[in-house]
Amino acid sequence: MADIRVEHLTKTFGALRAVDDVTFAFPSGKVTCLLGPSGCGKTTLMRIIAGLEAQTAGAVYFGERDVSRLSPSKRNIGMVFQYPVVYRGISVYRNIELPLQSMKLSRSERIRRVDEAIYLMGLTASAAQDVSKLDNGTRQKVAVAREVARQPQFILFDEPITNVDAASKLQLKRSLKELTRSLSQTIIYVTHDQTEAMTLADQIALMEEGKIVQCAPPRELYNHPADRFGGWFLGNPGMVFFTAALSGTDGARALASPLFPAPIAVSGATGEASDVTIGIRPEHIRLSADPLPGSVPAQVDRKTVQIGGQYLVALTVDGLANHGFKAKVAPSVGERLPASGPVHVALPLDQVSLFDAAGNRIAATLRPAGAPNRAQ
Ligand code: ATP
Repeated sequence: MADIRVEHLTKTFGALRAVDDVTFAFPSGKVTCLLGPSGCGKTTLMRIIAGLEAQTAGAVYFGERDVSRLSPSKRNIGMVFQYPVVYRGISVYRNIELPLQSMKLSRSERIRRVDEAIYLMGLTASAAQDVSKLDNGTRQKVAVAREVARQPQFILFDEPITNVDAASKLQLKRSLKELTRSLSQTIIYVTHDQTEAMTLADQIALMEEGKIVQCAPPRELYNHPADRFGGWFLGNPGMVFFTAALSGTDGARALASPLFPAPIAVSGATGEASDVTIGIRPEHIRLSADPLPGSVPAQVDRKTVQIGGQYLVALTVDGLANHGFKAKVAPSVGERLPASGPVHVALPLDQVSLFDAAGNRIAATLRPAGAPNRAQ
């Protein structure tokens, strides 16, 4: 099994750099999700890898082989698009079998592959049905099964769930999850939907403005975003940010903010002391009607119940520059909070991220002043 590598890959459309000097390796046997906001270049990058779009500069390698100038049909890849590509008027079985007929396989091998793909995508009950009679989600499963049966070197998915009706989305997502786990194939999966990426990916490559800004397993990306963009883009809602003052010199730094009752000792941060940004996920913020360890007084402005029963609580803290922010708490906590009025808020220090003026993560450990520095 081979990996897919791109080196200094660039694609311009006029003045626009849709893919901007990307050097990256998609590891073999893993599902890599290309995730990012609309227009960040995900599809263009994938289309270049597939050979459907020519790069302006740079190269694409499958293993050691430079495939930059090969046509799509010579690249031995499978592709699943936003809209299911199926042959209407024929059965599910025939849809999957047809492409195999030009592959010079023995009849028994052909049958084995079709049966396996049907089984993997949970299509056994509809195998004899005409695809025209199926819903969109099942048609997309047929499109996936057809690519799986061909056994290409790689499979590329371009937002395969986006245009499937709401009722079939969850089911298709589950099928894809099971499929990718059982195939152990090199897969690139493009999506703008973070839940999809968190569910399906072994690793997520986060894109912004034509560049891959971070690549990590889903939880790591979520908990340790490399920059403010990753903090903001992931999560529902994304991280909340506050400016704070980092003072002192290396070895004796302190972080001050109205969100902490006393300055916080910071180890690991190097360089000039300056204003920094604190980032925290809304669901990591702790709230209580009574004081908590490390809490400060706050004011509830509004609380609303979300789908799933969690509460989104709008808060203000005296002295905080961009004072209004939202915390997300469990139903059991939210129910006990006042609809408006005084509460106490605490930021668990191991959940706090620090970012420098350029928005990049500062690798630092935070602890209450006076507590032993376990990092040393
Ligand atoms: P989406 O999730 O909306 O599909 P994306 O991250 O996949 O977005 P791309 O489709 O790769 O983004 O597009 C990246 C940028 O390149 C966008 O600004 C888009 O408008 C532009 N673009 C893509 N294809 C072309 C084209 N053929 N001609 C001109 N501009 C293009």
